[in-house]
Parts: sequence; structure tokens; C-alpha cells
Amino acid sequence: MKLFNTATKKLETFKPQNPNKVTFYSCGPTVYSTPHIGNYAAYVYWDLLERTMMANGLKPYRIINLTDVGHLTSDGDDGEDKLEKGAKREGKTVWEIADHYIDVFKTGFEKLNLLEPVKWARATDYIKESEALVEKLIKNDFTYETSDGVYFDTSKFPEYKDFARLDLDHQKAGARVAFSSEKRNASDFAVWKFIKPGELHAMRWDFLGRPGYPGWHLECSTIIHEELGEPIDLHAGGIDHIPVHHTNEIAQSFGAFHEKLANFWLHCNFLTINGEKISKSLGNIVTLEDLEQKGFSASDFKLWLYQGHYRSERNFTWEDLAAAKNRRLKWQNAYVARFQQTSKENRSLRGQMLSSDGEKFATFKQQIISAVNDDLNSAAAFALIDENLNNLQLLDWSVVEALFALNISNIDKDAEYEKLDNRLQPLIKKRNEARENKDYETADKIRDELKAQNLTLLDTEEGTLWQFTD
Ligand SMILES: [Zn+2]
Repeated sequence: MKLFNTATKKLETFKPQNPNKVTFYSCGPTVYSTPHIGNYAAYVYWDLLERTMMANGLKPYRIINLTDVGHLTSDGDDGEDKLEKGAKREGKTVWEIADHYIDVFKTGFEKLNLLEPVKWARATDYIKESEALVEKLIKNDFTYETSDGVYFDTSKFPEYKDFARLDLDHQKAGARVAFSSEKRNASDFAVWKFIKPGELHAMRWDFLGRPGYPGWHLECSTIIHEELGEPIDLHAGGIDHIPVHHTNEIAQSFGAFHEKLANFWLHCNFLTINGEKISKSLGNIVTLEDLEQKGFSASDFKLWLYQGHYRSERNFTWEDLAAAKNRRLKWQNAYVARFQQTSKENRSLRGQMLSSDGEKFATFKQQIISAVNDDLNSAAAFALIDENLNNLQLLDWSVVEALFALNISNIDKDAEYEKLDNRLQPLIKKRNEARENKDYETADKIRDELKAQNLTLLDTEEGTLWQFTD
């Protein structure tokens, strides 16, 4: 399995420390508003990453954090706290906002059929541990205090610029006006923020003799230390995390534990909509609910994403989503055709083969896994599926489902198709008899009934098959 490692800027063979517990951390959402499709893209890509690991016999052990405190509207340690902003907007408490949007986020995760992490780690559940990390940084002399918080002194970590290839001299000159005069270096960042008297900030903890709250980057270093231990095998996030958030995580973890944070770093690119950044101010936000309202499923969106590559910027258009939906429908119909052509006995055999994992269905399986092993080249895997579309057996489809979880060919779907098949077979028989008797009225009536249910019949040499239409 080869992956592009941001830390070395090279395609490298992925070798975890322990194949039975591959420590994997991906930065989670800030839970203060409804996520848009761009927010979910990273999790769709990392789901494929996790499933590819599993196809290679590795056992991923993944943690996702939920940022419910400390993420300010700007990356530069100023601006409003995002949770406070959400609470103000909706007239709720910050805790209610966090609970609500955690639920919303998880619902989307389920809709997309993504693997749950071993643990959803909520930042506010790690406050004591976060404080201990700050104390370590203070003790190891990596910090200084200003009137508004405890800052990490990036000049004390000479490798600070390495990860993102930062030009710190340039940053210093350019940002002289922009950063608080109390900061020693433009790149310094808050590990802990103080709450000034009179300042409204509902989430607060007494630490270092006054009320405050953790800096945003801190939770990732804390949770990784507590749940996984440095260095982890793989850390993933968006490319926007490289210059600030991940660079700061690396600095903190080194400052506190003198350890490298992660061996592999993966970063996915942005999603744009009609060529523009997704933002509230542009009014172009699209949510999973919007997709559903326009007749698309979460699987259509996933399939569209997997047609491209996680390191490329992806431009979302409704036309392209419609094309992806057509491809999904074509695959689903190829699957249901094979399903109908497979005897009941062999269908149930598929379940047994899968649960015992004993069957090797050689060539196709190997080819498709090789494709995703090449830095998650799902587009190449999709080309293979198209190429072999009419020859794929049920077991071949289970490889497709195991990697992409598109919800068109799993065991649950088999039960659904079985039911449908049981209902349709008598109708198909009745229609064929009517046609033989030249009773076209009855035959047409059956066709129209099925059409109303988005189903159609296809007469082939081997008999009549039912298919989905949209
Ligand atoms: Zn993070």
C-alpha cells in the first residue's frame, strides 16, 4: 500500500508499527453548524483509506475528535469562539449547540455509510489532560505568558517550519501589523487562552489561577497522547491544516513529549462548488439534505468523490453529480441482473464465503485492491469495474462494496432484492403469459404499474429481468 506522505512529499510504502492496531487519527469537525458536503469530503476519503487498510489485512484503530471548544473564527488566535457564535445565533447554550451538531454530524456519517471510529473524542472530555500538556510545555520552557494566554514560542522549536516548508522570515515581516505586540514571533500560537473579566465565554475552566479555555490545536496533541501514543502511524486532515493546525500539533507534541507525532501524514484537497469556495457569504452551501431533496443519495455523492482523487481539488456541479448517479444506477442494475441470474443457493453461499473469508476470487479482487493501494486511486478501480461490469459475480461485487461502501451490493441489499424479486416474479410470469396470448392490455398494465414504482423489465435471451429506473 503506497500513500503520499506530506511529511516527506513522497509516495511511500505504508508500514504501520503494529498491523493489528494501526493508530490512525483524523482531525474532526468543529460542531457549531450543519456541515456542508465539503466538510464531509475528507471523511469519505479517509473511509476509503481505512477500508483499503482492511483489504490489506491491517486493523485500523481510528480516533476522530469533536471540537466543542476553543476553535476561534480566525486561525490566528483571535476572533469569536465558533461555539459561542453558534449559541448566539440559535439562542441556545454552547453545550446544547455542541450536543446538537454532534448528532447532526454523526447522522451524516451514517447516511454516507462511513465506518465509525473506535472513539469520538470530545475536546471538553480531555480538559484535565490538556492542562497537563500545557504544564509540560511550561516546564520544558516552550511557552511564555501574555495578557490573553499562554503561547508556544515557535523559535524554540527550530524544525517548526519544516513540515509546511514555511517561510518564517517572510511571515514575520508581512504580519508585523497583524499580530498582537505581545507575541514574540508571528507564528507563535496560544495553547491556553485566558478569559478577560467581563468577557462572555460560557465554557471556562480555572487553570493557572484564572478562568480560561484550551487553544484549538491543543486537543489533537492531547487526544493523540491519551488515546494512541506518539508516534501514531497515520494522521489525516485537509490541506488547509498543513501550515497552521498540523504544524502546531507537531510543535506541541514535540515540546511536551519530545516525540514525533506521526509517521505518515495524509492531506486531502478542497471541494469547490461551480468553481467557487464553499462559504456562507457566497450563499453556495450544499448539505446532504439538499442532495436528498434533489433526488440524489449520499452514495451518489460518494461515488462522485471517488471518481476523482483526494489530493486533487474537486469542483462540484449538479450535472456531474447526475452523471455519477447514472453510473451508480448502471452498477446497481448490473448487480441486480447478476443477482437474479444467481440461484438462491449460490446467493446464500456468498454470505457464507464472506463470513468465513475463505474464498479467493483472484484476479478482479487483486486488480481492484492494487488500484486503491496506489495512493487510493479509486478512479482506476472504477475503470476496472466498468470494464468488467457484465461479468462481475456476486463475490466480485462484495470487494467493490467492502472498499467503497456504496450501498448497492451488500448482504442487507440482497435481502431487499430478494423480497422485491419474490414480489416481481409472479408479475413477470403474468406479463409474459399475457404477451403470449396477445393480451397486450394486461401486459401494458403490468408495465405501467412497475413504471410507477421506478422499475422496468428487460427481456434477455436468458429470460426477463427487472431493473431500477429513476
Ligand atoms: Zn487536529
